Amino acid sequence: MRQACGTGTSYRAHVPQVLIVEDDPQIRTSLVRALSEQGHAVSSAHTAMTGLRQAVEERPHVVVLDLGLPDLDGREVLRMLRAVSRVPVIIATARDDEQEIVRLLDAGADDYLIKPFGAAQLEARIRAVLRRATEREATPVITIGELSVSPRAREAVLGGVMLDLSPKEFDLLYHLAARHGEVVTKRDLLTEVWRVPYGGADKTVDVHLSWLRRKLGETAQRPRYLHTVRGVGVKLVDPGESG
Ligand code: CA
Repeated sequence: MRQACGTGTSYRAHVPQVLIVEDDPQIRTSLVRALSEQGHAVSSAHTAMTGLRQAVEERPHVVVLDLGLPDLDGREVLRMLRAVSRVPVIIATARDDEQEIVRLLDAGADDYLIKPFGAAQLEARIRAVLRRATEREATPVITIGELSVSPRAREAVLGGVMLDLSPKEFDLLYHLAARHGEVVTKRDLLTEVWRVPYGGADKTVDVHLSWLRRKLGETAQRPRYLHTVRGVGVKLVDPGESG
């Protein structure tokens, strides 16, 4: 159900295309109407399977994904979507469950909203994820020693070998690489990489840092790129330059 439809690439480049996957007809209709009025080109789907198909066919700029869909579990939908697309995904959930939200963000969701939420709030989140996606597209490959990180391709290579990183491991590495030489606090990582307020989820940063260290072939005790600054945060450095 496409409400406003662009023809040609110049139109597509300027009007954000939003796909809303939501089974509740009232919520769906009101969000479609509100976002269309704000100048977005909006399409919608009421099941996970039609949503996945539309995400592939329509190549929207952003997907708003309700977690409580009739045909598939939300985490499964996210996994399937991430297997075929890097489109920014905003999760809409009725469950205010921090651990579950962090798991979804780890699995590649870009942001989240707790129901009930208004169209203005959704629009602000859409603007934010689109802005971050645009920044990523515009950022050149970052090279630090033997490590190179390409935000556009979402690929990281170390010593000529492609690293096998999860979506959040990549985001974490990119965030630290973009600020290499600077100490980044765990609080900053949670708000910038996970988009969650600092609180009970801070363990997730430690866990992801240890996974990332393993993939970079180093440990906290014998660091090369990732150096813990005790009580402050973590810093990514060129091992050839640190003495
Ligand atoms: Ca639902």
